Amino acid sequence: MNPSEKLQELFLKFPGIGPKQAARFVYFLMREKNNYKQELAKNIEALKDSANICEKCLRVFSKNINQKESKLCEICANKMRDERSLMIVVKELDIDAIEKTKFYSGKYFVLGNLLPFLTEKPSEVINIRELVNLIHTSLQKEEKIEEIIFALPATDEGENTINYLRKTLSQIVGIEKVKISTLARGLSSGLDIEYVDKNTFKEAFEHRG
Ligand SMILES: [Zn+2]
Repeated sequence: MNPSEKLQELFLKFPGIGPKQAARFVYFLMREKNNYKQELAKNIEALKDSANICEKCLRVFSKNINQKESKLCEICANKMRDERSLMIVVKELDIDAIEKTKFYSGKYFVLGNLLPFLTEKPSEVINIRELVNLIHTSLQKEEKIEEIIFALPATDEGENTINYLRKTLSQIVGIEKVKISTLARGLSSGLDIEYVDKNTFKEAFEHRG
């Protein structure tokens, strides 16, 4: 396999990229100047050392070059954020979109995926074990989680995931009086959280239930 074929294969792994787009990227790179290619290669190499997964919310984050070894992302490490509220999202882009609204000041947890119907081993698809551990740990602290909010897409798989999580989590938090809520659906039927705008999020947050 020559480098252009190998690169095409690597681009195919990118989310949402098909064979034609992968080939387009390779042709683009072949035409680009060498210093662009060097810059790209250099930054991919640097990403290797800067990419981290947050121990608490499981979000991937890039640590700054001069930062010492950090196991927590900046949101989890921020003492000003409200520990009493935990928002469950599928992926990092959802957090980015919600943070942009500047309307939510609690913590997050990244589920990693949605749960398809009839999944036999949910813990192999979503980060449920880690979520249960996080909640257990929080309930032993002084500043406990008081509300768990699902910010998942209003699709069939989203609903299936919420049903599963409600059932599983209410078994462990039920007696501890933790409120479990879901962002209101009305305005954003089928909407992926990563595309949410400020007003839609505000409306869905205020009418959660
Ligand atoms: Zn985190």
